[in-house]
Amino acid sequence: MSLGVCLLVMPAGMVGNGQTGNSLTPSPQAARPAPPPSQAQPASPPPTTYTLTPERRAKAIAYSRSLYFLYFLGTLVSIGIYLLLWRTRIPVNFRKWARKVSRRHFVQCLVFVPLFVAAATLLNLPFDFYSGYILEHRFGLSTQGLASWLSDWGKSLGIVAAMGVIVAWVFYTIVRRRPRRWWFYFWLASIPLVLTFILIEPYAIEPLFYKFTPLQKTQPALVERIEAMLKHAGLSIPPARIFEMDASSRTKAINAYVSGLGSSKRVVVWDTTLKKMGPDELLLVLGHETGHYALYHIPKEFALDEAVALLFFLLGFFAVNRLVERVGPRAGVEGIGDLASLPFVLIVLTLLVFLSAPLVNGISRYFEHQADQFGLEVAYGIVPDPNAAEAHALQILGEEDLADPDPSPFIKFWLYTHPPLDDRIRFAATYKPWAEGKPLELVGR
Ligand SMILES: [Zn+2]
Repeated sequence: MSLGVCLLVMPAGMVGNGQTGNSLTPSPQAARPAPPPSQAQPASPPPTTYTLTPERRAKAIAYSRSLYFLYFLGTLVSIGIYLLLWRTRIPVNFRKWARKVSRRHFVQCLVFVPLFVAAATLLNLPFDFYSGYILEHRFGLSTQGLASWLSDWGKSLGIVAAMGVIVAWVFYTIVRRRPRRWWFYFWLASIPLVLTFILIEPYAIEPLFYKFTPLQKTQPALVERIEAMLKHAGLSIPPARIFEMDASSRTKAINAYVSGLGSSKRVVVWDTTLKKMGPDELLLVLGHETGHYALYHIPKEFALDEAVALLFFLLGFFAVNRLVERVGPRAGVEGIGDLASLPFVLIVLTLLVFLSAPLVNGISRYFEHQADQFGLEVAYGIVPDPNAAEAHALQILGEEDLADPDPSPFIKFWLYTHPPLDDRIRFAATYKPWAEGKPLELVGR
């Protein structure tokens, strides 16, 4: 699950999906060598569609297709790994060791889960290495050396193992106590678990990968303009909640996002974005992000995603029961309450996450469009021509991140967390209720 809302054009979590938990980091994606700074100047006429040179267009299409292919392949690879673990009975042996160590369930989880996560993650390493390192370098997008990439990979493994212990402990405790209703009780338990994760992510996880500096320190003039922009809309976000992130330590891609909840809620801009865009474009980017912040998109999206999850947990309940009943005994698995059933549970979970993608991404596209609209409205009266600045900003974003100029309807439906860039630029160029004497819909009401 992607837990932040951002500006990214590419489908989120497509690179390095699965066990290593790269999706936990604000997915370091991709870009290309810096364009001449003139592209960031509003002097050139504003684009009305997403337009690339033939060479860049071919590169963007090749890169995007690789990502799509890897997304679908990654799902198959994950399922293949769980099948392999199940057939080789490795998890059954891990569970035997765990039982030898202690009779206490939590201690058994503490032994079993890290072993399982390490085995699955190592088997997935070739795939992760190709999608997260080789591909990014091949397209000239990554700035990360091998040692740094491996260090991130190791950290992700540790995070997934630590969180896995807690989630598995809660899951198996509920399955054992409520064998007929666990799908519902585990769904209930997932609410505080995910909320806690969203709350602590900016403090506990993001700083493991990147450095965050208050934007006020590095760009005081920009922060002043952001404050003026928000004040104009009757909003306030404390400047201490707006950060610059050193994304350039990993990637040339540009992005910005909102993460956290309540007291940890924050707006983050990648330093790469600050370098590539002019002040007006940056204000529009921040207008989009503050839209997520001001319109409470994280809790709203979380609530809708949980509603989707309830349905899929029920389906998962029937599927896991059937699977364990049929093939569990032959695989040495005593029942769903046995830790060794984890490969079965994860096969079903992987399939459900895959099948729920169109719904979850459709919800995300709705909020992303709303943030685009908010950005234009909040910048109106502050930036001389918000439409031009937003269209420029999105064009730069697409060029830098090699966004697909023409995704197929199926790919958009299944994978896109944001409307395709061409749609976004067309909207940016034409949405001006102020020119027609209409009221603003999202700002200042
Ligand atoms: Zn966004």
